[in-house]
Amino acid sequence: FETTAPTAAATVLAAKQQGIGNLYMLSAQKLVPPALRALLDDPDVRVDGFILPGHVSVITGTEVFQFLTEEYHMPGVVTGFEPLQILRSLYRLMKQVTEGAARIENEYGSVVHAGGSPAAKHATDLVYEPADAAWRGIGVIPLSGLRMREAFKDYDIERLLPLDVPMGKNKPGCRCGEVLRGIVTPKECPLFGKACVPTHAIGPCMVSVEGVCAAWYKYGQGRFSYGR
Ligand code: SF4
Repeated sequence: FETTAPTAAATVLAAKQQGIGNLYMLSAQKLVPPALRALLDDPDVRVDGFILPGHVSVITGTEVFQFLTEEYHMPGVVTGFEPLQILRSLYRLMKQVTEGAARIENEYGSVVHAGGSPAAKHATDLVYEPADAAWRGIGVIPLSGLRMREAFKDYDIERLLPLDVPMGKNKPGCRCGEVLRGIVTPKECPLFGKACVPTHAIGPCMVSVEGVCAAWYKYGQGRFSYGR
């Protein structure tokens, strides 16, 4: 994502400056705004507002999310990672939804600013350009990824080797794509908590501790009445 792209870009820039010729990168960078746009353009997705990503916003700034309000009348709150920040962001988001407002607010103001990090964005722009990218469970989203520019082709393993990276396939029965788009809750997957548990994950949403299904499994089981 935008968070890690500047570090990769800075590495390539340093390699070029120092004449290092045996460094190769495979770009799997993704961009958040095109993914949000794809979600909002999906008629199956019912979203009332976005908790916007804190670390991404450190780099991009909040301005890149203005299209949410201007084109979709969709509120968003940039959020940090502390429990109180998350609670306050939810409160601010719910307040906007209740009032029918659509603003981009910032609950992570200690590190996130409107314009983001100019130096980080400049490094990324020097090395990368937008390209179509495949998202697991969703498919290809136009211009939602980054590929290395022609000027850095000597560091781009995709240009140097005939790599064929196949699209990941969902396991039968796994509804991760729908979970990721907020169309169903994890509980609505027939495999949830049965064949699919954190110690034996069937789909990607159960693999990482940040995965929706894994979080639901850890915190949602029998504690609260979630879901539809
Ligand atoms: S519970 Fe497992 S199988 Fe079901 S959607 Fe989540 S990751 Fe996929």
